[in-house]
Amino acid sequence: ACKLIPGGVNSTARATWSGWSPYPLFVESGQGSRLTDVDGNEYIDYLLGLGPMLLGHRPPRVTQAVVDFIQSRGTVFALPTADEARLAEKIVAAVPSVEQVRLCNTGTEAVLYATRLARAFTKRNKIIRFEGMYHGFSDGVYWSKHPSIAKAGPDDRPVAVPQGPGMPKGVEENLLILPWNDPQALADAIAREGDSIAAVLTEPVMCNTGCILPRPGYLEAMRELTRERGIVLIFDEVITGFRLGLAGAQGRLGVTPDLSVFAKGIGGGFPVAAMGGRADIMALVANGTVSMAGTYSANGIAISAANAALDELATPGLYEKLDAVSDELRLGLGKVLSEAGLPAYVVGLGPLMQVWFAKEEIHNYRDAERRADQDIFRRWWQGMLERGVLFHPGAYENLFVSTAHTREDVAATLAAAKQVAADL
Ligand code: PMP
Repeated sequence: ACKLIPGGVNSTARATWSGWSPYPLFVESGQGSRLTDVDGNEYIDYLLGLGPMLLGHRPPRVTQAVVDFIQSRGTVFALPTADEARLAEKIVAAVPSVEQVRLCNTGTEAVLYATRLARAFTKRNKIIRFEGMYHGFSDGVYWSKHPSIAKAGPDDRPVAVPQGPGMPKGVEENLLILPWNDPQALADAIAREGDSIAAVLTEPVMCNTGCILPRPGYLEAMRELTRERGIVLIFDEVITGFRLGLAGAQGRLGVTPDLSVFAKGIGGGFPVAAMGGRADIMALVANGTVSMAGTYSANGIAISAANAALDELATPGLYEKLDAVSDELRLGLGKVLSEAGLPAYVVGLGPLMQVWFAKEEIHNYRDAERRADQDIFRRWWQGMLERGVLFHPGAYENLFVSTAHTREDVAATLAAAKQVAADL
């Protein structure tokens, strides 16, 4: 069980925002599937730094590559390197829809590049995006879920608006925000405004409102509708990319976008992201029509980390093992919660999953708002934390499993879950 040391950093620090209740939680170190806080509490970590630690903490191959790089080569060059070219080759080889790729630092930047490119390619302005998805914090695509900026729609359902304190005016004119998993809503919007729509931007599996899988045929319908009207389909695979397999969600689900965005899992914990796709669209970058700046983009440290991470991910059998451990956790949690008689279900795909405390299934953000019980989730989260298991504190987020998690970690997690479920 975790203990708070009176007078320690967890209980006294005030100079910075310090994380999540029940108390500020300052981390000391990570190793494999474990995190240790400044009071010495150890947690089985399913937060994974919000996703990047797909290989666990301190993955030896990545650590070694970065140390070697700093000691022998330097850091930021501005000019391209052979390592950068090699990383691009690996991404292109892994993801069939990606013919060319550009590297940068964060998912936010990569989404910005993709939407800019789609606008330049189509000479149209609007982007369709979906309620409850997060594509980074750039003002152009930001969507705040804060209730103070949600307004009632025609039938009193919450309607997303792309504004908030500090947001620029006029952003909403270039965004159409639709409910996800609703092919009719998408077909109607495209029928009405198709000629002004540059791109449909979506996660192939919804990760930022819990974990929500696309309904059968939904992504296929999206692909068809966008193709018919010359709209660029952008998959934001910042979370799913290289996590659901080397070819990401698109490989696993068999739907091909025009552009894709990757981050988190490709850097082994270092800031590296990538945007790539169809060569005819990417040509606008190569010929200078669309500019993509970034002093630190493709910096040597990040690239050496990503090369090592992708080499590690190419280990034969790695994804099969990751899926097997993840399935054990998903099925195990579902069993524990149902045996405790709780109105909950666990949904997921491979190493992505979330526990929903809801009586009915959730297929998009509106369902989550109406059906998810935040209060019971909160007690569940805190109970698990106190028993040394760290999940994401948000009811609308994901648990991540890393390649460092073992069957023993899963067994310990399920034992804790059994105790917590009994008290809920
Ligand atoms: N897209 C998705 C799907 C994300 O989950 C995130 C980050 N959580 C981003 C984009 C933004 O990435 P970053 O935080 O690296 O800017």
